[in-house]
Amino acid sequence: MPTAPASERCEIAIIGGSFAGMTTAITFARLGFDVRLIERAPYPTTLDDGFDGRGHAIAKAGQQIFEALELWDDMAPYASAIDHIRITDAKRNGRISPLQMTFNVDDLGLREAETYKSGPMGYITENQPIRRVLFQAMSKALGDKLWTECEVADFDFSDPLPVLGMKDGRRLQADLVLACDGRPSPTRKAAKIGLRFIPYNQWALVTCLHHEQPHNNWAYEHFMPDGPFAALPLPDLPDGTHRSSLVWTKSEAAVKGLSKLDQNDLADCLNASFGPWLGRLTPVGQRWVYPLSAQHADRYVMPGLALVGDAAHGVHPIAGQGFNLALKDIASLAENLVESRKRGLALGDLHQLERYQAWRRPDNAAMLAATDALDRLFSTGFPPLRIARDMGLAVVDRMPRLKKRLITEAMGFGQGFGAKLPVMATGILPS
Ligand SMILES: Cc1cc2nc3c(=O)[nH]c(=O)nc-3n(C[C@H](O)[C@H](O)[C@H](O)COP(=O)(O)OP(=O)(O)OC[C@H]3O[C@@H](n4cnc5c(N)ncnc54)[C@H](O)[C@@H]3O)c2cc1C
Repeated sequence: MPTAPASERCEIAIIGGSFAGMTTAITFARLGFDVRLIERAPYPTTLDDGFDGRGHAIAKAGQQIFEALELWDDMAPYASAIDHIRITDAKRNGRISPLQMTFNVDDLGLREAETYKSGPMGYITENQPIRRVLFQAMSKALGDKLWTECEVADFDFSDPLPVLGMKDGRRLQADLVLACDGRPSPTRKAAKIGLRFIPYNQWALVTCLHHEQPHNNWAYEHFMPDGPFAALPLPDLPDGTHRSSLVWTKSEAAVKGLSKLDQNDLADCLNASFGPWLGRLTPVGQRWVYPLSAQHADRYVMPGLALVGDAAHGVHPIAGQGFNLALKDIASLAENLVESRKRGLALGDLHQLERYQAWRRPDNAAMLAATDALDRLFSTGFPPLRIARDMGLAVVDRMPRLKKRLITEAMGFGQGFGAKLPVMATGILPS
């Protein structure tokens, strides 16, 4: 049956306009591609403070990507540096185990510090202000090529070019579709790309903490038998109030229970569980809960289509890497598509897209496996394993070369990022 005529045509159609989609749109519009972005949600809702209470850890590599996109200066006021990380095991008999591990930005050697233009290992950014920075930049770059409150309802990936059908009847033909439509990814389903799914039976409680002592750019990951408790540094308020973002992982029932406690009872639970480093903790304002799982698409590409961000991979938030992986996907795609253009290849050329997949899929699979293993190792109270992991923390803490390697990974410079910096970080973007 002949395909219905497309009412509009573009080079790159991006489905989904959240963190991955907005960054993808800004990148490719600035690289001179003819881009459309389609987002079904109304932006006034998703940009509102009440929509998302999380902070994102942005690793050094991700921050460099935002710098290359000339977005970092606008984001920096909403970011707090991470110079130190403390990893501790749960309290026993009311006391924190003395076997701990700390990472400090000074643990990096001079050579690494120079290579990676060191400063902090990364930053904690507040999601909603960062969304607004991305939205401003995207709106400016796309103008009326941004289709909001518009849902892609029909996907045709038959030859020669993909055609998308909107719920409102519009049609869009593109050389390449980039699916940034999140974990449920209707695009991935329509393309019949399979998925490996790992349920965690864990939920995360997210809220803001005020605390007596300054965080001094320390991030804390405190492992408890039913999941980790993270206190991540946020910028102080203008009146000097010290703040961190709480991500507390527990069973669904426990998280739902905590989310309903009054402020004083929640404060008591927090203070009984965490160590002394920040002084008394006070939970403040709205609370959010998120069910946790991991997933990985069997492949990322087919002719005319590439999956990006959570549409391709979803990892446990234990190491704060999900969006960072998306940023590296985008940087890698940018490099591949700029090359396609230079070589006169079609943007949807499968061979070229497979290079993106070959670069990104092993890196994302490694992060999925590492975060999965970390969660399983620490979410057990089984005494022999517990003793082994406490010893492990203390041993790794005394191995400077291994720590250097782990810090480099956490900064986002593993798997080809570092030795081979992507196009965005080498300044190909027009200023
Ligand atoms: C508790 C928690 C803490 C986290 N902490 C960190 C962290 O510290 N650091 C980090 O890097 N990552 C972190 N992450 C992960 C990070 O939040 C995600 O990786 C990231 O938000 C995914 O963004 P995305 O744009 O790929 O997907 P999504 O945010 O899911 O966006 C998908 C978009 O597509 C749109 N859409 C879907 N279908 C259609 C359609 N048919 N038509 C039009 N639009 C459509 C949706 O409306 C949505 O806006 C955390 C996650 C959780 C749960």
